[in-house]
Amino acid sequence: MVRRGVNEGSILGLVDLARSAGLILRFIEYMDVGSSNGWRRDEVVTAQEILDVVSREHPLVEEARQPSAVARRYRFADGRGEVGVIASVSRPFCGDCTRARLGSDGHLYTCLFAISGLDLRGALRGGAGDDDLRQLVSACWQRRADRYSEVRASLTSSLRRIEMSYIGG
Ligand code: SF4
Repeated sequence: MVRRGVNEGSILGLVDLARSAGLILRFIEYMDVGSSNGWRRDEVVTAQEILDVVSREHPLVEEARQPSAVARRYRFADGRGEVGVIASVSRPFCGDCTRARLGSDGHLYTCLFAISGLDLRGALRGGAGDDDLRQLVSACWQRRADRYSEVRASLTSSLRRIEMSYIGG
């Protein structure tokens, strides 16, 4: 995760480390996940800015993108591996999003920026079986209209959101 004024000077060092170790590196834009990280839009280093830094040193060739993939992938023109960027702020991909997350509180969240989730723990403790759960999840997914990243700019920064520590990445 690259944050302006904090670690953007480490981009190339990380790339070189990954290339020498044969690892695939993914950069992700700094996001307003949860309500506690003090996110500010001007601290976002965009995916394009990251790619510009990398490609000045190591020319890149873009790979075809799978519709549900979160990362845009680029291979190094010299054949020594690949790097990816997740442009969740500057180029949101909500229309292709297929992610659901089960929180440690037993709620199913259909968006990283959800305010509330489906209470599967309560259903289980109320005696729901596999078929009941399948129907609950299916109905929840069909009602889903999440597109937070596409409408981020029009939402208030004071909106409460689930913290990443509840639902993972
Ligand atoms: S903001 Fe929500 S709907 Fe959009 S890509 Fe992220 S998790 Fe998916």
